[in-house]
Amino acid sequence: MTSSINDLFSHNRAWAEQMERDRPGFFTKLVKQQKPKYMWIGCSDSRVPANQITGLEPGEVFVHRNVANIVVHSDLNALSAIQFAVDMLKVEHIMVVGHYGCGGVQAALDGARIGLADNWIRHIQDVRHRHRQLLDSLPEALRADALCDLNVIEQVVNVCVSTVMVDAWAKGQKVSIHGWAFGVHDGLLQDLKMTISDPTDLDALYRLAVERVWDSRRPA
Ligand SMILES: [Zn+2]
Repeated sequence: MTSSINDLFSHNRAWAEQMERDRPGFFTKLVKQQKPKYMWIGCSDSRVPANQITGLEPGEVFVHRNVANIVVHSDLNALSAIQFAVDMLKVEHIMVVGHYGCGGVQAALDGARIGLADNWIRHIQDVRHRHRQLLDSLPEALRADALCDLNVIEQVVNVCVSTVMVDAWAKGQKVSIHGWAFGVHDGLLQDLKMTISDPTDLDALYRLAVERVWDSRRPA
């Protein structure tokens, strides 16, 4: 465990030296351009680092993170990041990645008050409200994981209906939006089968993905 800020700088120097030793010219090449194929929209949670989980290097994934991986229609921060990724970097894949054991999702489920962030988490409570029948029909112990999946599925929809994606798809740009969930307990990514490459598929794939949340957890 890192014990002080100075350690961070010494780790950084060691890392930069190691990279340059293993791959001479790595940083010189990185300066010239970033050409990532992927954009990651994930939770700020410290246990879910995009690059490490996917084995991607600096320059390979464009990352936006916030509490509970939410894409809000009026959030200029997230929308600007998506616009830059799609219009300028021409990423081919955007993955919205939730994670099991998410504090934001749990707070939304419990209706817990944690401060200013309550207003942000309200967006997950909207998801919970929309799917309350499904959630109420599940054993209590499974509801947080199910809400994590449902939140990802809803945020994929929000990316798909953003002006950025509507315009990109209208121009014929090839971009796929994916919904994944990360298991902090096993380190594995789950594909929630909510991959949208064509907006005309959105409604049907949304319905199937939501059904799958229920089917995969249905009491035997
Ligand atoms: Zn989280």
